[in-house]
Amino acid sequence: LYIDQPLSAGAAVALDAGRAHYLRAVLRLGPGDAVLAFNGRDGEYLAGIGALGKSAGTLRADRQTRAPDTGAPPPPRLLFAPLKGGRSEYVVEKAVELGAGRLTPVFTRRGDVSRVNLDRMRANAVEAAEQCERLDIPDIDDGIDLHRLLACWDPSIPLLVAAESGAAQPLVTAVTAAAGQAVAFLVGPEGGFDQQELDALRRLPFVVGVGLGPRVLRADTAAFAVLSVWQAVAGD
Ligand code: SAM
Repeated sequence: LYIDQPLSAGAAVALDAGRAHYLRAVLRLGPGDAVLAFNGRDGEYLAGIGALGKSAGTLRADRQTRAPDTGAPPPPRLLFAPLKGGRSEYVVEKAVELGAGRLTPVFTRRGDVSRVNLDRMRANAVEAAEQCERLDIPDIDDGIDLHRLLACWDPSIPLLVAAESGAAQPLVTAVTAAAGQAVAFLVGPEGGFDQQELDALRRLPFVVGVGLGPRVLRADTAAFAVLSVWQAVAGD
């Protein structure tokens, strides 16, 4: 159960209506039952349910069951162009399951700024972390324009750009070379990067073009592919 409050042995936690409803109506728990609670910072605690009403409730943290994730190797960052039809939220959900440490919507010429619903994406990140028993909640950044992003990029961090054409190296080769380091992946919009964007990316020394095989994948599939390979090659 995700709760946005400090956790330590003996800590009392007040539950808001949403969390109380989730315990009562979804998990079908009540006073005296126990639940595993985390807040993205302090690890995981076994907590006993005290009062549980329709609009509020209380928990008492008992003991720590898992320490916070140490973050080694550093989890990858995923930068992705927003997608239509709820697929950005789907990308967030799957990226959290596959170990992404930070997610950034990136605005490109062929993408659509109006597709970004940060509140929904952040809620999806919390739900996905609960579901896959992650103890941290990846940050979802505000969206940023591709050219602004590149202008302020830390050049010590390789940016692996999924590109179906041009001088791309196989993804496995690039991920193996970057294993153990902080790394970021960029996936383009449904319509792909435009020529000006590709030219700008290719000029930058920290950009590594990576190919995901001979077929043109949908953008959400490409995001899952890069993270799955990272997990298999470099994840813990
Ligand atoms: N017609 C578009 C084009 O030619 O650029 C297709 C874009 S594809 C649907 C969406 C994104 O997924 C691309 O911008 C790229 O980042 C990634 N992608 C899809 N298939 C890929 C592949 N085989 N190798 C590398 N990246 C791929």
